[in-house]
Amino acid sequence: MYTGPVVAVTASIREEERPRRVRLNAAYLTALENAGLVPLVVPPLADPHAADRILAGVDGLVLTGGEDVAPDYFGEERHPALGTVNKLRDATEIALISAARRLRLPVLAICRGIQVLNVECGGSLIQDIAAQRPGALAHNGEGPRHETVHSVTIEQDSILALATGATRLDVNSLHHQAIDRPGDGLRVTATAPDGIIEGVESSDDWWVLAVQWHPEEMDAGAQPGAEPGPLFKAFAEAVRSS
Ligand code: MN
Repeated sequence: MYTGPVVAVTASIREEERPRRVRLNAAYLTALENAGLVPLVVPPLADPHAADRILAGVDGLVLTGGEDVAPDYFGEERHPALGTVNKLRDATEIALISAARRLRLPVLAICRGIQVLNVECGGSLIQDIAAQRPGALAHNGEGPRHETVHSVTIEQDSILALATGATRLDVNSLHHQAIDRPGDGLRVTATAPDGIIEGVESSDDWWVLAVQWHPEEMDAGAQPGAEPGPLFKAFAEAVRSS
């Protein structure tokens, strides 16, 4: 019988949609299963305090892409270019991150995931790159989701550098927000040529790999049964040894 480690994977519910549905791009689940992990989908919870009990039953946490994080969490007014927010999802994911830190569970954070992680650590976000960083590259790619849009420079001795064996990568880019001020205990490990932060990790022994791009859409590992991509492979190794 197959008994791979189970990891919690966050998802969304768009309250304005009828019928209300749990939403998650299946590419995340495929990439995790290809790496030998069993994904357990966690929607926004009516009671975020359940985060502790959920994480007590799993071996890792994956924070996925989605809505903008409400700027209330970093003490800013809403910029006119702010997109859809989901405060129940924000509260659930913030509770999950804080429980994962207490439990020392490995965390893989993607796109919105790196942003909500940063906010939970006390950092702030650029609410809209085009409006607030006029000279920046176009990060909100409009082509196919796997298409590489810009490069990132990777810090040596990071989980990211070890996982990819690279100091520079071409990545896809499907975001209009990004980290502004990094949160406490986070180390910037990847940066786009325009200075936009694209990767962070924990500066202590907590295993955290957070990226602004979408590895689940880029790698060949996005296809069912394919070899896992390097970030998912590294996460699975961390989960197995935690
Ligand atoms: Mn980008």
